[in-house]
Amino acid sequence: MPSEFDLIARYFTHPARHTVLGVGDDAALARVRRGMELVVSTDMLVGGRHFFHDADPRLLGHKALAVNLSDMAAMGAAPRWATLSLALPQADARWLRAFSAGFMRLARLHDVDLIGGDTTRGPLNICVQIMGEAPAGRALRRDGARVGDDIWVSGNMGDAALALAALGGRIRLAPRELAQVRRRLHVPAPRVALGQALRGLAHGAIDISDGLVADLGHICERSQVAATIELSRVPASAVMRRHLDHPAATAARLAGGDDYELCFTAAARVRARIERVGMRLDLALTRIGRIGAAQQGRARVTVVDAHGRPLRVASQGFDHFR
Ligand code: ADP
Ligand code: MG
Repeated sequence: MPSEFDLIARYFTHPARHTVLGVGDDAALARVRRGMELVVSTDMLVGGRHFFHDADPRLLGHKALAVNLSDMAAMGAAPRWATLSLALPQADARWLRAFSAGFMRLARLHDVDLIGGDTTRGPLNICVQIMGEAPAGRALRRDGARVGDDIWVSGNMGDAALALAALGGRIRLAPRELAQVRRRLHVPAPRVALGQALRGLAHGAIDISDGLVADLGHICERSQVAATIELSRVPASAVMRRHLDHPAATAARLAGGDDYELCFTAAARVRARIERVGMRLDLALTRIGRIGAAQQGRARVTVVDAHGRPLRVASQGFDHFR
């Protein structure tokens, strides 16, 4: 059986570009450029909780990094470095090779150096820390939304949750439909380029990992504002549109996690500039509502129909401890 050191050498040692010293010493040395702030985030994927134990290791490798890249996107940061801490039940070479391939393919795509980590035996657990750079004072934050801002989202809402609902038997999809939305669940595409393009344009930003209403609620809370979104404007994929009258579809669109799109607010006068960003990146950017003043005793996020009448939202998204 290979030693821990063999495993690290074989699967987790790759040339690094933004790094003085990578894997192999007691710590790594990253080269942060002058005038930049270091942007740091971490996300853990726990077997049995965030994924099934028999999940495809290549997709897991992708997703473990993708969810972290999405946090860099939400901050408007350029991702540069990652560390990877793994607890593994056994040293399974096939699993490690596939996991590492999925992880490293996405790392190379976004020019991220894997600069360290930890490898230990234990119940399957994947913890990635990501570090990036943003020009000092220019990162996107949750607390920047202002009254009167437009609310925007990238891509389509709820496909990942729709896939999960179909896999859990809560809604029936045709096999072709399931294949399409499953990709969104297993192979999320973090909106890294969009985040950076929104620096200086967006006021408040977040990535949608827990559901649109819940995550927009975080912007409102941090910014001390309220939001109104119009259900009919919330963008839906072709698959989603075919199932719009199913309760699981609306729940997925408003409260389904795992989409890893960005939700952001911006002044009305930069609409045209934001639309040009969407065209340049070939990514749909949709205006779904408005930021208003916070009111005591009122919900932070109100969903309205096409006539402006408030709708009840069944679930406020996903909360691990609820
Ligand atoms: P230490 O005993 O100092 O904790 P380790 O033996 O755990 O060092 O790790 C040796 C080197 O391998 C370190 O540079 C560490 O960052 C790196 N490393 C360990 N596990 C991983 C991993 N899963 N992915 C990337 N680098 C790793
Ligand atoms: Mg160690």
